[in-house]
Amino acid sequence: MQEVYNEIIKNIEKERVLKDEWMSKHTSFKIGGKADLFIKANSIDEVKFICTIAKQKNIPICLIGNGTNILVSDKGIRGIVLKLNLNEVKVQDEFIYAEAGALLSKVASVACQNSLSGFEKLSGIPGTIGGAIKMNAGAYGQEMKALICETTYLDENLELRTIKNEEHEFSYRKSFFSSKKNYCILVTKLKLEKGVQEDIKKEMHDLLVSRKIKQPLEYANAGSTFKRGENFITAELIDKAGLKGYNIGNAYVSEKHAGFIINKGNATAKDVLELIEKVQQIVYEKFNKKIELEIEFIGER
Ligand SMILES: Cc1cc2nc3c(=O)[nH]c(=O)nc-3n(C[C@H](O)[C@H](O)[C@H](O)COP(=O)(O)OP(=O)(O)OC[C@H]3O[C@@H](n4cnc5c(N)ncnc54)[C@H](O)[C@@H]3O)c2cc1C
Repeated sequence: MQEVYNEIIKNIEKERVLKDEWMSKHTSFKIGGKADLFIKANSIDEVKFICTIAKQKNIPICLIGNGTNILVSDKGIRGIVLKLNLNEVKVQDEFIYAEAGALLSKVASVACQNSLSGFEKLSGIPGTIGGAIKMNAGAYGQEMKALICETTYLDENLELRTIKNEEHEFSYRKSFFSSKKNYCILVTKLKLEKGVQEDIKKEMHDLLVSRKIKQPLEYANAGSTFKRGENFITAELIDKAGLKGYNIGNAYVSEKHAGFIINKGNATAKDVLELIEKVQQIVYEKFNKKIELEIEFIGER
């Protein structure tokens, strides 16, 4: 890795190329071992440069956004973790152009400032545009799918490509990008509608209050651990199975919201994985339902 590091710092300041960086600093779960190299890219050219070197040296690359939907291995991540420092959000008429590293809260706030409606329900999701497109993030009946016109990304050959809404293959917490490892989402164009600023502001505020009441935001977590079932609400089954408060080490099923696993201190990824397995097993035994993971495990097994 030293050779790769030496190559990369020829073009990127050392302050943005971190060796042996703890991933627990970059995930909302506050869990995760060290990444060999953790790099923040400030431009598309830098992304291309880093990916080219990784390709030449046969080093894996792992993209992350705000780290709010991932569980990183205690053994860390071999190779390069790449985070996009591209956060610009621009408005033109009822369209918003958002770079992949922009937080959804920033997009929502720009939309509100411009009296554009449609993004309110997504405003409390703590991820970036890149992460939200990849998993078709959604809340309160609204999904990214409904708002996206087109997205520009880098493919595996580092070619810039743009796809229209229907080419995203959006479905529940999935998109075209779900199966394309290392396609790097760069920017997206969203279509919103003219609205009344006061109403937009109020809806965003009310939904944030509701999140604070219903979700265990006082603890580190990665949102809903499991996907919603096709004909059942996963959190309800976990609750009915008597699993609220169940723990392995410092990983707990939240007492406040059974769909969340929380880190009450120094939980490890191993604790969380064991707890996930236990919850899946007990729910299956009691209700004959398989519950699928929503969070993504990243790193060395
Ligand atoms: C308290 C809390 C509440 C949440 N509530 C919701 C909710 O209501 N609805 C919901 O859908 N989710 C929710 N989440 C989960 C999470 O915020 C979303 O899934 C979010 O979209 C993840 O974005 P991220 O930037 O954090 O992605 P990360 O977790 O960093 O990464 C997720 C995936 O996206 C990929 N990725 C990230 N950026 C790019 C890019 N530029 N190009 C290609 N791939 C990329 C990563 O490789 C990874 O596979 C919640 C999480 C928390 C902690």
